[in-house]
Amino acid sequence: MITLDLIVGARPNFIKIAPIIKAIERKNIDRKVISFRLIHTGQHYDANMSDTFFRQLGIPEPDINLNVGSGTQAEQTAGIMLGYEKVLMKSKPDLCMVVGDVTCTMACAIVARKMLVPVAHVEGGIRSDDRTMPEEINRIVTDSITDWFFTTSETANNNLIRSGIDDEKIFFVGNTMVDTLLANRSRFIRPEIWDKLRLIEKEYFVMTLHRPANVDEGEKLKQLINEIVKHSHDLPLVFPVHPRTARIISELNISNPRLHMIKPLGYLEFNYLVEKSKAVITDSGGITEETTMLDIPCMTLRDTTERPETISIGTNELLGTNPDAIAPAMNRLFNGGWKTGGIPPLWDGHTAERIIEIISKTA
Ligand code: UDP
Repeated sequence: MITLDLIVGARPNFIKIAPIIKAIERKNIDRKVISFRLIHTGQHYDANMSDTFFRQLGIPEPDINLNVGSGTQAEQTAGIMLGYEKVLMKSKPDLCMVVGDVTCTMACAIVARKMLVPVAHVEGGIRSDDRTMPEEINRIVTDSITDWFFTTSETANNNLIRSGIDDEKIFFVGNTMVDTLLANRSRFIRPEIWDKLRLIEKEYFVMTLHRPANVDEGEKLKQLINEIVKHSHDLPLVFPVHPRTARIISELNISNPRLHMIKPLGYLEFNYLVEKSKAVITDSGGITEETTMLDIPCMTLRDTTERPETISIGTNELLGTNPDAIAPAMNRLFNGGWKTGGIPPLWDGHTAERIIEIISKTA
């Protein structure tokens, strides 16, 4: 039997790990092939950012919670490393599986590798080439010590090959975030805000912002939001505010009757809103993948992306972070000039099964 540590710590991790756990459970039906410990490092800990996702996506209670809480990058990295090292000192798994690009992805990969536990990275190889993003540092460090790369795109494969990774360690399997989306699409839930605002299909926007480049400077953030409100052709904007952004926004005195700033939504409610929206305005990475799958126009307020297939194949476009880019993009959207998207290779809902097959054959 193979033993796995599955590491999660922040919202996008929960969405990426859920189908992997389901695939393990299916694999174990006749004979237990894989046993796992689910380790929550506790970067996101409140109900809105954590518990709701466990409940909605049927993720079991974590076996271990490191409860690292909020803090600076270094505080969180250090806290997670100390906590996970203690766990590994008691018992080591055959493989440590990390997902995505958050702090715990990198911190647990380092601890595992130093204690001679091989590391599997789900969503390995993606690069924005923007080293001002903490996530890019997490990706580079994690991939430099990963043993098994499970990738979402040909671009990721090429990035790894270019950095000298052996072809045999790279498994192009697709996207577990897409597994979750496809498995739950028929279960999306109409959120309360729908009736409260009397939203109409295709006649509102969904917006999310949490990247330091957009939200760390208050005045810039205010300008960006005002510009979006100004050019959104009188449609309502639903803005579930990430806790990081909420801290800054509360000091900015932004208000407009069409701008609805609400608490982060559950996964099923959020994607209900996305699926029926006119378009999404975001700086998230995962949301560009979901809008591609749902064929919803996506305006990304960033200069780079680590997910270029959402642009070359999907519905996503990079507008940059300059507020001047909003007006022309909105005009194009309202004139019917936005592209329709296709589906990237292997984004078919079966990625987690492929990962578990590979691990059970090869580990
Ligand atoms: N999401 C959610 N509720 C919200 C906003 C986002 O469930 O109010 C989900 C969204 O569907 C996507 C994920 O959170 O699956 C994206 O997380 P985030 O933007 O925090 O991370 P990133 O993708 O930028 O790493």
